[in-house]
Amino acid sequence: MADALPTCLLDGKLLPTAEARVSPLDRGFLFGDGVYEVIPCYRGAPLRLEAHLDRLHDGLDALGIPAPFERADWKAHVAALIEANGGGDLGVYLEVTRGAGAGRDFLPEPGLRPTVFGFCWRLAAPRPQHLEQGLAAATLDDIRWLRCDVKSVALLGAVMLRMEARRRGADEAILVRDGHLAEGSSSAVFVVRDGAIATPPASRERLPSITRQVVGDVLDALELPLNEREIRTDELYEADEVWVASATREAMPVTRLDGCPVGSGRPGPLWRRAWDEFQTLKRREAAS
Ligand code: PLP
Repeated sequence: MADALPTCLLDGKLLPTAEARVSPLDRGFLFGDGVYEVIPCYRGAPLRLEAHLDRLHDGLDALGIPAPFERADWKAHVAALIEANGGGDLGVYLEVTRGAGAGRDFLPEPGLRPTVFGFCWRLAAPRPQHLEQGLAAATLDDIRWLRCDVKSVALLGAVMLRMEARRRGADEAILVRDGHLAEGSSSAVFVVRDGAIATPPASRERLPSITRQVVGDVLDALELPLNEREIRTDELYEADEVWVASATREAMPVTRLDGCPVGSGRPGPLWRRAWDEFQTLKRREAAS
């Protein structure tokens, strides 16, 4: 990941990232009691900001944290953060925690003021090697909690899974639960077999990925049907193509799974079409 850019957002104010301070009693630090978003931004324009703010507010509702800003204020703060860091292609991170209490109690005291932190970094173009050869993934048992639909800052499970995937020489962990596909450790997963594209439906086992929505629109534009259904683990091994999708990686082909080739072992033709259309869509949305 690229370094944080010099200006960040803390509780509605822009300030130098190096000078930003949050209390050690913040419940985000003590308990992982908060939610976050990662929003891709192309030529200074956030992609699907509304959908990201919807998901952020859904997460705050799920945790009973009051929304710190109205929609218009969020948009103004995100625009200011982007502009202060020079625009261009960025990843924008927003985090809202329940705030700092007087001590450390699992039960939050009433009247806490949420902490809001935002920063950004330069989005790197995908590596040519990844576009030409695809990524390696490892299937791992999903050790995370049972509310994976909430984009919680408590990411220890995902961190451990990514470290294990790396130890196995893989770029991403594809998580399985009870014999079916959950999602990637930080991605939505698509599977292609005999020209049919499938991805699992929304559930508490997985994050409602915004990039998954974008890929859905891309497939609509290409008139390729997307089948939403549970996917058995063995279907991953029999797939012609597997894709992983996330805000900062868009949709990438997985060409090796647990050390074995996926399909031909090369990025597949449907992924290529989806990728090209994704680039068109993102440029069009950034320009509008
Ligand atoms: N699933 C998990 C667990 C994630 O952490 C992410 C992104 O970080 C995704 C899916 C993809 O979500 P999005 O497309 O909104 O980035």
